[in-house]
Amino acid sequence: MSRATKIVATLGPASSDPALLEAMIRAGVNVVRLNFSHGKAQDHIDRARLVREVAARAGREVAIMADLQGPKIRVGKFAEGKVMLENGAKFVLDASRTEPGDLQGVGLDYKELPRDVKSGDLLLLNDGLIVLTVDAVKGEQVHTTVKIGGELSNNKGINKQGGGLTAPALTGKDMEDIKTAMSFQADYVAVSFPKNATDMEMARQLCNVAGAEFGHKPGMIAKIERAEAIPRLEEILKASDGIMVARGDLAVEVGNAVVPALQKRMIKLARLNDKVVITATQMMESMISNPVPTRAEVSDVANAVLDGTDAVMLSAETAAGKYPLETVEEMAKICAAAENAEHVELDADFSGQTFSRIDQSIAMGALFTAHHLGAKAIVALTESGSTVLWMSRHRVQIPIYALTTKVSSQRKMALYRNVRPLLLDTSADRDTALAEAERHLKKRGIVETGDVYAITCGEPMGAPGGTNMLKICQVS
Ligand code: PGA
Ligand code: MN
Repeated sequence: MSRATKIVATLGPASSDPALLEAMIRAGVNVVRLNFSHGKAQDHIDRARLVREVAARAGREVAIMADLQGPKIRVGKFAEGKVMLENGAKFVLDASRTEPGDLQGVGLDYKELPRDVKSGDLLLLNDGLIVLTVDAVKGEQVHTTVKIGGELSNNKGINKQGGGLTAPALTGKDMEDIKTAMSFQADYVAVSFPKNATDMEMARQLCNVAGAEFGHKPGMIAKIERAEAIPRLEEILKASDGIMVARGDLAVEVGNAVVPALQKRMIKLARLNDKVVITATQMMESMISNPVPTRAEVSDVANAVLDGTDAVMLSAETAAGKYPLETVEEMAKICAAAENAEHVELDADFSGQTFSRIDQSIAMGALFTAHHLGAKAIVALTESGSTVLWMSRHRVQIPIYALTTKVSSQRKMALYRNVRPLLLDTSADRDTALAEAERHLKKRGIVETGDVYAITCGEPMGAPGGTNMLKICQVS
């Protein structure tokens, strides 16, 4: 089944069995997310090795995304593990408290909280299931009244409605985790809670320094999950290679109701800026415990595809759920069906567009020509993958095959919508390389005699950013 939208699956206890992971990859996982909020460095190193081994066995290119924990702002622990907060009760969040929490209050791992809030603020705990109104700040203590009660257990997260918590995006733990992620050359690093472009630039620099000894530079993904990030989307995008619509934390900060419209805006803006975008959180939530998704989940995944997302993400569904394989299978089906119903408006996309770069003009020329000729495939000989990134920012119903000599480029491209990255050790001679490419495509059953395809390359061969040729070929 052909599918353009990519699937990101979070690895966890429910998906760490090699045979199961292999089945998930065969069923459609393109990117594996390692969640650094859980587990030790060695766990991630072991899991990364497992992913590489299993992907090789399955013959699929799979990218690894290391997702940093970030400054998750949490309450401390309770003497009994949890408390039941009643509506109207008083509850104190105390940065100086060292003894375990009880019904009256609890300690904080985020010591700055008393400086970040004032009376009247709303604090949302446990993903917004519990709401506290701030009555007063007294020294290190935040006195609150329970507005919406419920069970509050150890280390649950705290968000402030409207945003405004000052915690820096990169913690000491994140800096250590970056080193771990670079030791296994994670293809992408996702930064949690960035507030601005500087957060992303800093993270990129740390990754590049830690990756230098392996000659590795990962793609940087900004998780958009803070209210403050919304007005700065454009600058964050420019400092990143992609964004994640991190609907979990974002919904708590800005309110559920505005998230769908924000998702559409973010996806559009990412594509306009030639960046990739992942839509995340609760996409197939009910499949954590059920073998089939709800109608609403099916619609949610399909709508993200129609919005133009590069990838849809699974979190607990594959990390801790009962049906990780079935979830991937269902998701792949929904994506393919939604893509089939897509409306292609390439000409409208192009009207008023100008290009100053030669490689970008060739990329757009290939897309336009292939679309109008009804070509079977678009093929790009690419080093860095930038040619196919530009191509994949537009909707066409023709698959784009990226032939690269670099494994790191191949894996990065695993996240790009409608791009199928293949490894090919092409010759430096143009005519030989083009013949090799065609032979490879024929061997894989991608094109057959009589098929028309568009191919782009650069002369001299192998120079990144050097694409300067477009050829329309008919397979003989
Ligand atoms: P998380 O990020 O799963 O790491 O919290 C995604 C989100 O907040 O939606
Ligand atoms: Mn989050």
